[in-house]
Amino acid sequence: MLIILLGSVFVYIYYLKDKKEQLDAIKRGFCPKCHQKSIELTDQRSGGCSGPKILSYECVECGYANSFAVENNGSCG
Ligand SMILES: [Zn+2]
Repeated sequence: MLIILLGSVFVYIYYLKDKKEQLDAIKRGFCPKCHQKSIELTDQRSGGCSGPKILSYECVECGYANSFAVENNGSCG
């Protein structure tokens, strides 16, 4: 039981780390999967003034698609 718990925590941390690295690549303009400069912002949703923004990206080259929740840095003053 403990092993399962530790395993799922590890997977969760790994998942978050992986996701952060993907977002870093996208912010530099690269697709995290095929490393081409073909990543495009397809959708942008805001959860209001204080909520996080949901950014959806898609790669036109390999079909990679993912969405990221980013902190909204007080865009409404
Ligand atoms: Zn790609």
